[in-house]
Amino acid sequence: MATDYDAPRKSAEDENESLEALKERPEAGASTMNDVDADNLGFEMTGGDDISDVELDVVVLPQQDDEFTCTNCFLVRHRSQFDHDGQFGPVCAECSA
Ligand SMILES: [Zn+2]
Repeated sequence: MATDYDAPRKSAEDENESLEALKERPEAGASTMNDVDADNLGFEMTGGDDISDVELDVVVLPQQDDEFTCTNCFLVRHRSQFDHDGQFGPVCAECSA
């Protein structure tokens, strides 16, 4: 009788524990937590990790001496595309057009 009663309780506790673990993951956005179930959370966290890896690979390109970062579109531009210094720094010709 005791074992029959314990079995379902144990699986329910396991589910709670995995949910708690998910909620404590810092990469799980607090705003998306409330409306999604555990399956969606796992999927979103995996996708987020993949995206951050890709972004790191792309962003590490060093800026060259003849380049500047446009403060409007945040793209690295060749200085031939420099138009003027804006309020926050250089602005490219494309953004000034
Ligand atoms: Zn720009």
